[in-house]
Amino acid sequence: MTVTNPASPAKRLEWQIAHVRDVVVETRRVKSLMLQPASWPGHLPGQHVDIRLTAEDGYQAQRSYSIASPPEDELLALTVERVKDGEVSPYLLDELRVGDQLELRGPIGGYFVWTGAAKEPVYLLAGGTGITPLMSMLRHRDRRASPPPALLIYSARSWEDILYRDELEAMMLRDSGFRLVYALTRQQPQDWTGHRGRIDKGLLSANWFPPAHNPTIYVCGPTTFVETASSLLVELGFDPLSIKTERFGPSGG
Ligand SMILES: Cc1cc2nc3c(=O)[nH]c(=O)nc-3n(C[C@H](O)[C@H](O)[C@H](O)COP(=O)(O)OP(=O)(O)OC[C@H]3O[C@@H](n4cnc5c(N)ncnc54)[C@H](O)[C@@H]3O)c2cc1C
Repeated sequence: MTVTNPASPAKRLEWQIAHVRDVVVETRRVKSLMLQPASWPGHLPGQHVDIRLTAEDGYQAQRSYSIASPPEDELLALTVERVKDGEVSPYLLDELRVGDQLELRGPIGGYFVWTGAAKEPVYLLAGGTGITPLMSMLRHRDRRASPPPALLIYSARSWEDILYRDELEAMMLRDSGFRLVYALTRQQPQDWTGHRGRIDKGLLSANWFPPAHNPTIYVCGPTTFVETASSLLVELGFDPLSIKTERFGPSGG
């Protein structure tokens, strides 16, 4: 049975037009679209939007994209990776131009969010483009006066595939409460001293907030990454209920 509370009826999200104000090339496979929706109620770090494309014959395709910008920013940043032979991502990367319009609805999601209110450490694990909602959290945290400690373990294919690399490193340099650890799965620079290959128990147990510190944990990325990371965290003693996860797609890493 569904119980509805007439005092606070569920609000239906309407589709609206957003203007593309800028397109930022992040890596060879990824761009950020800087959007200005017609009317935006604000969002929480971790939420996403739905994008809908309509062809001339009326055919529609709809996909979800996490919001990478913090609530404080005027424009909404969506960071999109090209999926080979994909229906929507190649269009967003290759066809969309500054000044174009898109249909969008949101913000969506109330579970995978970090409001910034909690004092507990924030433990973030990203696989590939799974960094996007976590980046919104880190950008929001960066604007707080006394933010809680944060750790980001970020798994990318190669050094060149790391998104927001300069921004993340600048954040770490100015903030001793933020720790950044990369895992490079496929290719590493010659002088690479960091983790090689997929994340494993050794990497997580050497770089963590112990379970006793009650970190809030957010894991985001391809399904295989999210499943591996969550199982490792549970094996290391973290309460499964403290681990929030978001899955982006079937493969990758
Ligand atoms: C909540 C949520 C947030 C998301 N946020 C982002 C984001 O911030 N940035 C982003 O780039 N994507 C994000 N995604 C994924 C996005 O919604 C699309 O699935 C992705 O862009 C592929 O769409 P497509 O139409 O290009 O490919 P499709 O036409 O849907 O798929 C083409 C082929 O690629 C496979 N495929 C589909 N998705 C992926 C994937 N993610 N990785 C590898 N293979 C895939 C399919 O199985 C299919 O074989 C998010 C997904 C969810 C559910």
